[in-house]
Amino acid sequence: MDFIDLKTQYQRYKTEIHEELENVMTAAAFIKGPALKRFETELKAHSTATHAIGCSSGTDAILLGLLAMDVKPGDEVLIPDFTFFATAEMVRLIGAVPVFVDIDPSTYNIDPAKIPEQITNSTVGIMPVSLYGQCADMDTINEIASSPGLWVLEDGAQSYGATYKGRKSGSLSLLGATSFFPAKPLGCYGDGGAVFTSDDELADRIRVYLNHGQVERYKHAQIGINGRLDSLQAAILSVKLRHFDEETEAKQQVASWYSERLRDHVQIPVVEDHNRSVWAQYTIRVPNRAQVQASLKEKGIPTAVHYPIPLHRQEALVDLGGTDEQFPVATKASAEVMSLPMHPFLTEEEVDSVVTAVIDAIAQG
Ligand SMILES: *Cc1c(COP(=O)(O)O)cnc(C)c1O
Repeated sequence: MDFIDLKTQYQRYKTEIHEELENVMTAAAFIKGPALKRFETELKAHSTATHAIGCSSGTDAILLGLLAMDVKPGDEVLIPDFTFFATAEMVRLIGAVPVFVDIDPSTYNIDPAKIPEQITNSTVGIMPVSLYGQCADMDTINEIASSPGLWVLEDGAQSYGATYKGRKSGSLSLLGATSFFPAKPLGCYGDGGAVFTSDDELADRIRVYLNHGQVERYKHAQIGINGRLDSLQAAILSVKLRHFDEETEAKQQVASWYSERLRDHVQIPVVEDHNRSVWAQYTIRVPNRAQVQASLKEKGIPTAVHYPIPLHRQEALVDLGGTDEQFPVATKASAEVMSLPMHPFLTEEEVDSVVTAVIDAIAQG
């Protein structure tokens, strides 16, 4: 059994993918070619964002957002303590200070109630993460941000296609970032990402920053990066986007099979009524995690932990001085969360076998 089955996905779309790749290679338009333009148009329509800008990775999407907002050394950016490292990493890379906020125990997203106490005169923005495929509480966060005049950038690396109160991830705040890393809900065959915004001027700035700060050929107005999405990846993404809604629908079915069968045995994922998850992960909580993982592994069932170390404990960030006592919810979650195989091609029988293995392993513990 695969944790995320990219092999089956490839076999299903193989003919379409090869055709699109051949078009790019025949035209030899690898950088900023028509395949990229087309994908950006499709992404814009699908995401409902005013601007959808392809870029080199989810990490670079975050960096581009921070650059476009002119974040300076010493500026503070509020982020959840429980996320993939890149969220904090890009803030730190440009010399700004990631300030951690504890999470909600049922959704694992940033707890809006704990944001105000972390706002100082140096705070410039909030970067909520829409973890495991479910959007953070974006309206509440936007409202908290509005009176001190902070910007909000949604790290939607795991939530492309998710909806919040009927609106799409990426278009819920001033800026959104997503990732097309192969295992993400919409994945390419390498690295890729996108930035979303409804602000025309910001969109222009992002396009300049991702192309070496270049405003005209060989005229550089800014210090930027080489942050472009290449045409081969864009071509693959165009194919995958055609099938995305159908895959997401199939994952809803898989998630409900899991939840029906597991709800009396473990803490299952909580999706709030106003949210629709894209199930980047199906994550449960088990107190005896190492044992459960080992037991599943013996039966050929892969699991993963997202994430075993909260940010305040990361070696590269410990100098910021965060303690377990300040972030009790994130600290506890990092010790207990475990993700089960989740992809659109799982059958009910396979889900049953995973569920039986989980229940057996818990009983042993
Ligand atoms: C994957 C991920 C990123 C980074 O995306 P890449 O495309 O791998 O650079 C950033 N934030 C979160 C929450 C992620 O899950």
